[in-house]
Amino acid sequence: MQQKITALFQQVHGRAPAFITRAPGRIEFIGNHTDYNGGTVLGASIDRGVWVAVAPRTDGKRRFFSEYAGKVVELGADVTAKQTDEASWINYPLGVLMALPAFKLKAPEGFDYAAVSNLPTGAGLSSSAAIELASGIAFLALTDQHPNRETLVKIGKHAENNFVGVPCGILDQGVSGFGKKDHLVFIDCKGPRFDAVPLPESAHFWIFNTHTKHALVDGLYAARHRECMEAAQALGVSLLVEATPADVEAANGKLSAEAFKRAKHVVDEIARVDQAVVALKKSDLDAVGRLLTASHCSSQNLFENSTRELDFLVDKLTATLNVYGARLTGGGFGGAVMALTSPAFGDSQALTIADAYEQRFGARPDILHMKTGDGAERL
Ligand code: ADP
Ligand code: MG
Repeated sequence: MQQKITALFQQVHGRAPAFITRAPGRIEFIGNHTDYNGGTVLGASIDRGVWVAVAPRTDGKRRFFSEYAGKVVELGADVTAKQTDEASWINYPLGVLMALPAFKLKAPEGFDYAAVSNLPTGAGLSSSAAIELASGIAFLALTDQHPNRETLVKIGKHAENNFVGVPCGILDQGVSGFGKKDHLVFIDCKGPRFDAVPLPESAHFWIFNTHTKHALVDGLYAARHRECMEAAQALGVSLLVEATPADVEAANGKLSAEAFKRAKHVVDEIARVDQAVVALKKSDLDAVGRLLTASHCSSQNLFENSTRELDFLVDKLTATLNVYGARLTGGGFGGAVMALTSPAFGDSQALTIADAYEQRFGARPDILHMKTGDGAERL
């Protein structure tokens, strides 16, 4: 990919790049909608991501290119408006540029920019955080600034929340920024505090991407966010992380049926994350798998962010030999299912599940056998 981005940059901008960066996508391992509730989450950075190349310009022009969009868009350094239509992908790097002053960092004026990716977009693997972090490191290299990793993560989140306008928590950028091969990233979102948890070698990840997306997904995500905040308020806490499972049980009947279900999902899920860390430290993948599947059941019944396609895949996977557990990964309302398997799970079993899915839904899911990879870096 490094060769590819170098060649592409040369082709598009007619010269060599000055800096090349890379940031990985991520799998939400467990901790569903816990991040913006101040809870804990485990994620895996994967060996796929976004590569960005840049070189400075002295005329103040910012020339953006991504293989994904296929054409150069030129903006003056004074352009602060959100981009639309086929240029809307530029809101991710532009949002990063716009975020820098909030962190007392300087944005580069003119530059040439190119991006390539080997991540599916919109598959719940967080290509958006990957492009934010790869862009952030590239822009900081252009201006010879060296903030710490945590600041970089916060810049990406700031861009996504405030410029792109997605109210995501710190999971996506935190895992892309702090990822480590053969490890999971544990995030205590309230700090935030980041930690690496070793992953047993025999743990394998498979992703089944359904390419389904609920038409109202943005609105549904915002609605769940709002419902969680309302539930916290009704429980007398500022964020749901401050309520225990017992507090929520005790409020059953006092909370609306909906608020109760959302709150129960979140506090139980936070407890599952902590249990998963304990089980991982003992290399007890059976226990980890049970927690993953329990997380999915909670999404299905309490948080109501699953779909019949995702439920179908989880049912098939958990009934298959060599699968420890499976759950929807990412925001839900469509997207992808992750399975944790032993090395004995292979293509033939994955294809059997894809066949069954196709028979039922008339389309095939994409199957990705994922490896963990290192976090965002300058190459
Ligand atoms: P996810 O983060 O799960 O992949 P999002 O909808 O949050 O899905 O982000 C996808 C968006 O990120 C794309 O629509 C595009 O605007 C932007 N993006 C991701 N990767 C690239 C890329 N390589 N080049 C340009 N834009 C990208
Ligand atoms: Mg995203």
